[in-house]
Amino acid sequence: MNIEDIIRDTYTRNELIELLELSDKDDLDALYQAAYQVKTENVGNIVYYRGILEWSNVCAKDCFYCGIRKGNPYVSRYTMTDEEVMEGALWAEKQDYGSIVIQSGERRDRTFVEKIESLVRMIKDKTDLGITLSLGEQSEDTYRRWFEAGAHRYLLRIETSNPLLYGSLHPEDHDHSERFRCLDRLRDTGWQVGTGVMIGLPGQTTEDLADDILFFKKEDIDMIGMGPFIPHNQTPLADSLGDFSKIKEKQLRLALKMVAVTRLFLKDVNIAATTALQALNPVGREMGLLAGANIMMPNITPTHYREGYQLYEDKPCLDENSAKCRDCLEDRISFIGEKIGYGLYGDSNHFLKKHPEKRADYSWAGDKKA
Ligand code: SAH
Ligand code: SF4
Repeated sequence: MNIEDIIRDTYTRNELIELLELSDKDDLDALYQAAYQVKTENVGNIVYYRGILEWSNVCAKDCFYCGIRKGNPYVSRYTMTDEEVMEGALWAEKQDYGSIVIQSGERRDRTFVEKIESLVRMIKDKTDLGITLSLGEQSEDTYRRWFEAGAHRYLLRIETSNPLLYGSLHPEDHDHSERFRCLDRLRDTGWQVGTGVMIGLPGQTTEDLADDILFFKKEDIDMIGMGPFIPHNQTPLADSLGDFSKIKEKQLRLALKMVAVTRLFLKDVNIAATTALQALNPVGREMGLLAGANIMMPNITPTHYREGYQLYEDKPCLDENSAKCRDCLEDRISFIGEKIGYGLYGDSNHFLKKHPEKRADYSWAGDKKA
């Protein structure tokens, strides 16, 4: 296949499957290059940063794949203090990161909801940062409160669009359809909505992955965060893929194909080059950028907490501080010929095309300073 054959206005389900099944080295190079071309045409070759704060590993849920699930007794639980959050946010702003993400295990209690609301207000009050939240399933009221406090993007992965597969990865009381309802609530409240899936799950087929991409389109999703599934040895899925060291390469390739095909099909959304890619290959995230991703989420969690936030194994940069992560990333990004959108919000083009009136509200942090 060559690039001209790959780039189209739209694709059928069968065509998506065909692209996801490419395996010849030249075909794969053409696929990544085609996706890169579509990316630069629709969102440019600027990488936008979101410094991620892994706020707490306390979680009320028990997803079978996740290292910080409630049922893992080996995790020592932590929650960042307000001072640590503010320090992280100020550091991100000083580095000109433009945006941060607050991610955490899921809780729905009142103390949690109020704490997040006050943290968002505090950060918006003291900085120009854009705020993304990734805090799981919540009520309409909670989503509204956090939005009104000033956060404006939300990430909630559906994990897979296949309900049977979802069922095999979660205890019975975890409700797949609730995740879909949450995405609707978020959109109705005005958020820029992000979702995604894990790639290479036990029992997942190429058809499932094609259906995931069709789901993103049907639901008019603005941002995509997806990455390879990586087994964690203290979870029920520890051995679900056999000897993982033998399939790392395959897992990485499948995730990169998924990024590329999603870019080809959705064109103008934001797509993250996730840290899980880097866990499979030291330059996995840069490979993600070259396959069509345009967002990076450097870890700005205080180093001493990182050991406690291992959703999967071999999470990179566990013992590096944020400044070291920044310098090493900058070198890697300029090496592959991309620019960093310092001080910019880098909101989803897909969202801004639907809501041109929001361009002013979401004026880039850099513009505000000018
Ligand atoms: N608790 C929130 C946010 C933190 S978990 C939530 O679940 O939405 C963020 C994401 O980590 C999950 O959506 C899941 O896709 C991913 N994740 C968890 N365990 C993983 C694993 N073993 N391999 C790869 N990704 C994993
Ligand atoms: Fe909790 Fe999210 Fe992990 Fe599920 S994936 S156990 S909700 S942190």
